[in-house]
Amino acid sequence: MRDFSNDTSALALNTATLGHNLDGFGAGWSTERIIDACAERGYGGIVFWRREIGDRAVDIGERVRAAGMKVVGLCRTPYLTGSDVPENWADDAKLSIEMAAELGTTVLTIVTGGTEPGTKGIVESQTVLAERIAQIAPLAAERGVNLALEPLNPMFGGNRTCIMTARDAVRVCEMVGAENVGLAIDVYHVWWDTTLAETLAETNVPILGYHLCDWLEDTSDMLLDRGMMGDGVADLKALRAAVEGAGYAGPCEVEIFSAQDWWQRDPGEVLDVIVERFRTVC
Ligand code: ZN
Repeated sequence: MRDFSNDTSALALNTATLGHNLDGFGAGWSTERIIDACAERGYGGIVFWRREIGDRAVDIGERVRAAGMKVVGLCRTPYLTGSDVPENWADDAKLSIEMAAELGTTVLTIVTGGTEPGTKGIVESQTVLAERIAQIAPLAAERGVNLALEPLNPMFGGNRTCIMTARDAVRVCEMVGAENVGLAIDVYHVWWDTTLAETLAETNVPILGYHLCDWLEDTSDMLLDRGMMGDGVADLKALRAAVEGAGYAGPCEVEIFSAQDWWQRDPGEVLDVIVERFRTVC
């Protein structure tokens, strides 16, 4: 396993950790200020959300690289299944692919969306999902973008996801059968899964991203009470051993939705604590 005790080059910030991508939260730092604050602290990269980027993708990508970092990823495509799929999902997915390419990142995350209207269970939804990913994967490949399918914790089944385990995500990737489609593994969503290491070791589907946070023992909000690494009950070293054992050697992206705790703090403090925890507990 890689030694991070004195090396933060693999550390990336997912900007959701500073809260500003939900209205009414966060300290309101500009994208430029976030880039500089990460670079000063030795972060290796940043992951953005589309709403921060607007029409400035090329400029922001250049700014990140000029600061000595990489744009590690972009969140995310529109939902591809479920009741909340936008009517123009295919066009919107293309826009997200274009934005990723303009930012100069190779990873675009897919959060699938929920169960297809009129169906029960998740199998039919996964079939629809695979068809829709297959529809957008060639354009992404043309633009040098890989699509990272992120399984979500089962409690997000129904309205947010139809992929709840790494094993199901692997199966959907295999149904798509495109070289640029792989997995995003997020501690919050997989920490409970004792079959994770085995699933990842057995497949050739690539891991395209690894997301860090922690699962708090007494979590108070499913969506917005993620823990800082080290504050919860996830076995972070074992989880990283599982992804690295399967060949992953890429960035580790800190993604903490925390409305009542970390989003209330000064972003500089949050970024400092992340560095310290990354070096000691991840
Ligand atoms: Zn994630």
